Amino acid sequence: MICLGIESTAHTFGIGVFDGKPLANKMASYKSQGGIHPREASQYMALHATGVMKDAIKEAGISLSDVDVFAFSQGPGLGPCLRVGASVAKALSKYYEKPLVGVNHCIAHIEAGKYFGAKDPLVIYASGANTQILGFAGGRYRIYGETLDIGIGNALDSFGRQLGLGFPAGPAIERLALKSDSYYALPYSVKGMDLSFSGIVTAASKIKAKREALCHSFQETVFGMLVEVSERALAHAKKKEVMLVGGVAQNKRLRTMLSAMARSHGAKFISPRNEYNADNGLMIALTGWKMHNAGVRQDSLKIRQKWRTDEVDVSW
Ligand code: AMP
Ligand code: MG
Repeated sequence: MICLGIESTAHTFGIGVFDGKPLANKMASYKSQGGIHPREASQYMALHATGVMKDAIKEAGISLSDVDVFAFSQGPGLGPCLRVGASVAKALSKYYEKPLVGVNHCIAHIEAGKYFGAKDPLVIYASGANTQILGFAGGRYRIYGETLDIGIGNALDSFGRQLGLGFPAGPAIERLALKSDSYYALPYSVKGMDLSFSGIVTAASKIKAKREALCHSFQETVFGMLVEVSERALAHAKKKEVMLVGGVAQNKRLRTMLSAMARSHGAKFISPRNEYNADNGLMIALTGWKMHNAGVRQDSLKIRQKWRTDEVDVSW
């Protein structure tokens, strides 16, 4: 069975093809000087959709008529962007008379991580708009802790914008942070098992220091907060694996910190390689493939901008 998956929640239009193993993973990612302008990002996606599709089909060595099931990122995400992927997926499924599966983007990040080696992990999902610490229990991913305001990636991007780093700022902050050991104190905002990032962005804007030192201080603070909550969740849930997924999981410093924490509890640290941590179509294809194989059939396939991870019944 071949599943073609479409990702379009925020900045990346991606297409993946999966038939029990990855056949293709192609994408085009919107960049800007500011943050994500939803209308501009959706126009970018509409412009690149056909090109990405052609590349993915070619890489997979199939034609569209070979696809058995189409899957798309149904939410959460930006309305105009989600609508591009949903429209493409719905048109293809109607034209080729093949079933359509709506996939939760956050669950897809988790499924991608699991495909590459985890069984029952404590999940640290760190992305642009989302930051959650989760574990599977009773048919759903339960949230042990999460951000109370913006996601950790959005915090990095907002902070980076103040420094003129453009979007996405995460990679540039990571590079600059490597060049400094100076630490400027920032608010450390852990609230029980939850996190708050927006005040740290404001506080960082008031410090006069070299960009390298600010980036180092910012990373150490927000990553330290995330590791603290993750460690408490791990001690409580007693999982044997710690899995880091989402766009921010591409950061080497965060990976090092979390893997040291996991090791000190005798747990294995797992994180997929960058291609599968960044938003991508393959994670949608492999999740759609699993769902369809397990007999999941959905009634409503409207986009869901605020679809939470813990609302999904994981029956597959
Ligand atoms: P996602 O929402 O999962 O697509 O992830 C996008 C977010 O990941 C953006 O906020 C980026 O700034 C962030 N990001 C990408 N690469 C890195 C990196 N190397 N370090 C930190 N954050 C990153
Ligand atoms: Mg994502």
